[in-house]
Amino acid sequence: MQPDRPITDLIAENRPLLSVEFFPPKNEEGGEQLLRTAEALRPYHPDFVSITYGAGGTTRERTFKYAKILRDDFGWLVMPHLTCVGSTKAELLDIVAGYHADGLRNIMALRGDPPKGQTEFVPCPDGLRYASDLIALIRGNFPDICLGAGAYPEKHPEAASMEEDLRHLKIKADAGASFLTTQLFFDNEKYFEFLKACRAHGIDLPVLPGLLPPLSLAQVQRFGPMCGSSLPTALLEQLQVVDDNPRAAEAVGVTWAYHQIRELLRHGSPGVHLYILNRSASAITLARSLERAAA
Ligand SMILES: Cc1cc2nc3c(=O)[nH]c(=O)nc-3n(C[C@H](O)[C@H](O)[C@H](O)COP(=O)(O)OP(=O)(O)OC[C@H]3O[C@@H](n4cnc5c(N)ncnc54)[C@H](O)[C@@H]3O)c2cc1C
Repeated sequence: MQPDRPITDLIAENRPLLSVEFFPPKNEEGGEQLLRTAEALRPYHPDFVSITYGAGGTTRERTFKYAKILRDDFGWLVMPHLTCVGSTKAELLDIVAGYHADGLRNIMALRGDPPKGQTEFVPCPDGLRYASDLIALIRGNFPDICLGAGAYPEKHPEAASMEEDLRHLKIKADAGASFLTTQLFFDNEKYFEFLKACRAHGIDLPVLPGLLPPLSLAQVQRFGPMCGSSLPTALLEQLQVVDDNPRAAEAVGVTWAYHQIRELLRHGSPGVHLYILNRSASAITLARSLERAAA
């Protein structure tokens, strides 16, 4: 089996990358939805796709299963996610060894969130405390794996300040992260300021912006606070006007994301990572609009 190309090689090609994020479905119906979405996205050739690792560390098998389907049946470069939640160091190494043996060479390495009902992250016995620990563990054992890491343009919700979060991000970079993907944001200024702050803190990694094309007012009001992402007044006002019309709301969201992407690319961002929640409609409209804009 030919090992996968590292995503950093794609970034080095210096062209705008398109990546999309799937989550591993819980049941057969969800599995069919994921496959329909992947099929619909096939003609748009995402440069890579990622597949998340479920909260509570519960999706080890499903993440692996769908990583393989997306790679083998769709021919895509796939980056499975891995979190420290619920696994010992030995178990984490075992998971990574499985990916490596299968030719996968890109992993998004994360700490993960505390399980529902808990506010503080408690590492499992013989487990790891921070994403930087996971990155160091993988880097030390599998030097040829390209490691993505999470980054927070509006700071991680648990961090006391942006300054503190950036110091921790520097530890993650020094531990061996290869590139960063951001938490979703709706205001590009947050990304531009963050990028400047990263460089000022000696963090020189490529930073792939993560965007969620908003589908409704209710959705942004839920995801924004959950992810610590601020909601621009203009976006809220536009969504409010079409609140009773889901198609119109989706069109507002796609247009918002489209303008975000155009501006990000104009300012030299390495591409865009779309949080598509296993749905294809807005991603397809965006991919088409971007193709037209590039033509
Ligand atoms: C691109 C992306 C993909 C994601 N995919 C998933 C997924 O698949 N599954 C999932 O469950 N969750 C996922 N998440 C959510 C993520 O797990 C949570 O945001 C989690 O709370 C933090 O993960 P992290 O890897 O950023 O942690 P860390 O980098 O470890 O940071 C967590 C907190 O600890 C602090 N910190 C970090 N290092 C240190 C240190 N050395 N000393 C003291 N404090 C420190 C940071 O400032 C931060 O407040 C994703 C997030 C992003 C941005």
